Amino acid sequence: MNVPSRARVVVVGGGVIGSSVAYHLGHMGWRDVVLLERDKLTSGTTWHAAGLMVTFGSTSETSTEMRKYTRDLYARLEAETGQSTGLKQCGFIEVTADPDRLEEYRRVSSFNRYCGIDVQEISPRQVKELFPIAHTDDLLAGFYVKDDGRADPVGVGMALAKGAKQQGVTVLEGVPCIGITKKGGAVTGVVTPHGTIECEYVVNCSGMWARQLGQQHGVNIPNQAAEHYYLITERIPGIDPNWPVLEDPASYGYFREEVGGLMIGLFEPKCAPWNVGGIPDDFSFGEIQPDWDRMGGYVETAMARVPISMNVGVRKFFCGPESFTPDLQPCVGEAPELRNYFVAAGLNSIGILTGGGMGRVIAHWITTGRPDVDITGFNIDRLHRYQANPEYRRTRTVESLGMVYKCHYPTYVMQTARDAKRGPLHDRLAAKNAYFKDVSGWEGPDWYAPPGVEPRVEKIGWGRQNWFPYWAAEHRAAREGVIAMDMSFMSKFLVEGRDAGALLDWISANSVDGPTNQITYTQWLDDAGKLQADLTVSKLDDDRFWVVASDTCHRHVETWMKRHIGDKHAFVADMTGAYGQINVQGPRSRELLQSITTADLSNEKFPFRHVQEIDIGFARVMCVRITYLGELGYELYIPVEQAVHVYDRIVAAGDAFGLTHAGLKALASLRMEKGYRDYGHDIDNTDTVLEAGLGFAVDLKKPRGFLGKEAVLAQKAKGPLKKRLVQILVKDPEPLMFHAEVVRRNDRPCGYIRAASYGHTLGGAVGLAMIETGDAIDPKYLEASTFDVEIAGKRYPAIASLRPLFDPDNLKIKG
Ligand SMILES: Cc1cc2nc3c(=O)[nH]c(=O)nc-3n(C[C@H](O)[C@H](O)[C@H](O)COP(=O)(O)OP(=O)(O)OC[C@H]3O[C@@H](n4cnc5c(N)ncnc54)[C@H](O)[C@@H]3O)c2cc1C
Repeated sequence: MNVPSRARVVVVGGGVIGSSVAYHLGHMGWRDVVLLERDKLTSGTTWHAAGLMVTFGSTSETSTEMRKYTRDLYARLEAETGQSTGLKQCGFIEVTADPDRLEEYRRVSSFNRYCGIDVQEISPRQVKELFPIAHTDDLLAGFYVKDDGRADPVGVGMALAKGAKQQGVTVLEGVPCIGITKKGGAVTGVVTPHGTIECEYVVNCSGMWARQLGQQHGVNIPNQAAEHYYLITERIPGIDPNWPVLEDPASYGYFREEVGGLMIGLFEPKCAPWNVGGIPDDFSFGEIQPDWDRMGGYVETAMARVPISMNVGVRKFFCGPESFTPDLQPCVGEAPELRNYFVAAGLNSIGILTGGGMGRVIAHWITTGRPDVDITGFNIDRLHRYQANPEYRRTRTVESLGMVYKCHYPTYVMQTARDAKRGPLHDRLAAKNAYFKDVSGWEGPDWYAPPGVEPRVEKIGWGRQNWFPYWAAEHRAAREGVIAMDMSFMSKFLVEGRDAGALLDWISANSVDGPTNQITYTQWLDDAGKLQADLTVSKLDDDRFWVVASDTCHRHVETWMKRHIGDKHAFVADMTGAYGQINVQGPRSRELLQSITTADLSNEKFPFRHVQEIDIGFARVMCVRITYLGELGYELYIPVEQAVHVYDRIVAAGDAFGLTHAGLKALASLRMEKGYRDYGHDIDNTDTVLEAGLGFAVDLKKPRGFLGKEAVLAQKAKGPLKKRLVQILVKDPEPLMFHAEVVRRNDRPCGYIRAASYGHTLGGAVGLAMIETGDAIDPKYLEASTFDVEIAGKRYPAIASLRPLFDPDNLKIKG
């Protein structure tokens, strides 16, 4: 076997994803690339995929773009390579008989249209015309994309690999990666049975093997294979291969022609993880023995959508493994544990239909040093090491596969593998009637039921649910009185050392190394001036800093700091689990805290942005005067062993001030009224700090400069911004926004809501949208424009503002 001793990039895994990465690297001019496949190309999961090509259905701009790109790529690959992808653009219809799903699909379809997908809502009669053997009497509607359809997964994989070879990539079958070499925290080579290939980059695209391969070298990839089914019936007279693919998630099934019969694919609500202990090394072109007992009921339900399928025999009941992730997003990007080690695995059953786009994104990321799409939702560094634990994977995966076909209620909370992490106040808050949700594994209070009422969701839906009034009351209490909010899940880091200040000041756009005992809100930028983090830095002493970021950015922030240390004298310690965090916020927060501490909390002695240790009970607490809700307020950081003690003191004193417990729903609505940003939700790695409206937090004058400064200056020099994040308030108090609602200016789409909540004080749904109209955007421009938002197919007049609609002058915060 002729295995080269050097390559710039080694891609491990010759499924659709690895072949696509290699293909795109080649096309981007990186030809010194080796693709290693353990056995034969496509022999893992790719060979047996059903090949559905669907652009409809995602409210992620990145995913939708990837789907569109992939479909277009497969359409042109045969002309380029001579190898057919079998793409058949026979159309795709998603049907529903259920009003909640109808609402979901209407919301999704308007967003998908905004992204350039030609999706039409069609009547049950039209569904019947397009797919005559479907039972349509009970349907409410179908959503039809005429250019979608199906592809041949083996053809796709082979065409990508052939295209890669044509670009000069070396494709080696029968050569496994059995290890890697590394030096100084970066990968340096790939070990094979035929020798080591020295390289600059490795891309782990080994599908369901990715976790165990990564584990060998300390890289955390918590994906898990699960049984995944389809069946193929005997021939059905009259069936037409040109009929579209039909999907009915409520019946657990999708349907398409297959050699004169019907293929019925299944996504059952509770699935079966496969080989939690490890995937066999020699599993190639393999099948799993189907479990009829478990699947029989789902098959019957699915067949009822196409009744004729019940009258013909089943030719093949197929079960193959596909890998799933804890949150149904793929694991993509550079591993936090190892520089230049990239991963693209855990495709959650859409590897064929996103494979082209995925390869393009990874190749762009490697060749340019940064991704060109929002990767915050699927970046591998969002995942934690505990999620690779076998019991966690076994438990969570049962829910993951079924999520594909669930109605995607935005307030749904994953139910499996709960209680993985408890904050120190958990039991106290449970006794206060908290309804908990999974916050990066922590049990975080979402809202509180009143005394005597069980905290449960009575009926999930798109409208106001039973907890809406509880939420409104918590929101009001923060605006008018005082609330206590458990935020112990926040990521907290102690950064120490002689150069800790220099490190943090260099990576922060704001000045964070000024006076001690001060907290600073800042962004971290990359050298292109794009956002990498949005957080606070408190200077506790000349050589001691406290960095706090949201839970989802935990490992990203930690990695970013560590990778910029270089030879500086600075040390990062993760204090997340060591400190509880209670936020006491609201106009009466000072009175309440003053009643339990000897520290002087007056505005003069303890102004906004001040940090100091205060005494509460027998504890010493780090108290920070800052707010994420737009009120006078304090964040208390308490060693876990004293968190309950401090909490009890606050609650005991709180009665006299009407203290209310508030949860994450209130956090979302309060911060959204104030237009405060949340990285990974309304701002991301594709935005600049100026576009995000955060220029006020950039210190262009600080003597040592900062990472990304040149890019900020360059953007400033270009003149007024044509792309800006604006706050959107719907004038009608009734509709609710969540995410992905399309915003129009003067009747033309100009952006979409990236994150939203309900403004209980402003009196309507409120969100943040990045808008782009081709014109310079400033307050006058917004005033002279007419805005509306499309929510579930209806358009509602809205206000757009660059200044926060709630307390634009910060009078409440600084009082
Ligand atoms: C029943 C079923 C139906 C599906 N239908 C669809 C569909 O309709 N549409 C869709 O988009 N997706 C579908 N999927 C999902 C799709 O098949 C996967 O998402 C996709 O194939 C994953 O591709 P991959 O490249 O990540 O993994 P794989 O295809 O498994 O490729 C990984 C490769 O890595 C190789 N490898 C492993 N370890 C090593 C090593 N150490 N060294 C070298 N090589 C190694 C393996 O041999 C394998 O070839 C379906 C899946 C199933 C099971």
